Amino acid sequence: MFIDSAKIYIRSGSGGNGIIHWRREKYVPKGGPDGGNGGRGGDVIVRADKQLHTLMDFRYKRRYIAKNGNPGEGSNCEGRSADAVIIKVPCGTILRNADTGEILADLVEHNSEIIIAKGGHGGKGNTEFATSTNQAPRICTPGEAGQELNLELELKLLADVGLVGFPNAGKSTLISKISAAKPKIADYPFTTLHPNLGMVYFEEEKSFVVADIPGLIAGAHEGKGLGIQFLRHIERTKTLVYLIECTSDDPKKDFTVLRDELKAFDPSLPKKPTLIALTKLDIADDKQRNALKKIKFGKGIPAHYISAVTGEGLKKLVAAMWEACKI
Ligand code: GDP
Ligand code: MG
Repeated sequence: MFIDSAKIYIRSGSGGNGIIHWRREKYVPKGGPDGGNGGRGGDVIVRADKQLHTLMDFRYKRRYIAKNGNPGEGSNCEGRSADAVIIKVPCGTILRNADTGEILADLVEHNSEIIIAKGGHGGKGNTEFATSTNQAPRICTPGEAGQELNLELELKLLADVGLVGFPNAGKSTLISKISAAKPKIADYPFTTLHPNLGMVYFEEEKSFVVADIPGLIAGAHEGKGLGIQFLRHIERTKTLVYLIECTSDDPKKDFTVLRDELKAFDPSLPKKPTLIALTKLDIADDKQRNALKKIKFGKGIPAHYISAVTGEGLKKLVAAMWEACKI
């Protein structure tokens, strides 16, 4: 199952306490203070990793707690600092404070990271308080407390190409035809519905990820059908391909309706490089084919005519997808 959000609890380590301690050695009467500082508590760090593609692991492990720093020791020894806990997430994960909703980070690049909870500083040992007038301070401070946080993770798919279209337009079929069976990023259904991700190998070293966004219908932005819950997954795609059945009464109107839905969700979406794919060409007769070829969808919006059943036009469409998402 593809999980695109998760909630976890994190806590950084507290600093170790400083201590009160006196130098005690033979032949050194009344040695001065030598209580060391406490060590630092461990940080909690979240890091993006391109090897990961789901938030699945967070279903099983939900608590991430860093260790506390050790207390100071005599002879002015500082306590040991605790190691950081590193949480790896897929690239494209947004981190939110689950209690306030505040966005804390948006980790897009591989290896980008954020210290999401800082470990507490160690407390001061009594050595630190010695002055010329107080050479035997009986003071030390406790380590600073760690920070805790309920953290919400949300993965936005980083697909290069988003397939949009009304239900039944042939999105799932197309993705199954053009994406390699193995290896695939995913064929995972989301929690209940099914956007798919597929890796398309165009040529050697030329591959891209296609996402199939289900459930778009007129009025989706007002919550009709599946609503726009999946549209956020195409916010970051480089290219959009609109799939329209070639037997539609008015393909151009279908395109307009779809585009307006995207626009209502995010006005910048229609500005992405856009392709049209008229699907199911195998069931169109010659008259329909001729009529289709005359339709102009707009400046810089090329139309492709495809059949996932016979394979017609697929190679050209994939090449065009590659070109469009290279930009
Ligand atoms: P989606 O809802 O957009 O994902 O559409 P699907 O891929 O599930 O396809 C809907 C229906 O159209 C299915 O019954 C497919 O078999 C059929 N279909 C998809 N592509 C083609 C095609 O190129 N030619 C024909 N004849 N049928 C197709
Ligand atoms: Mg489908």
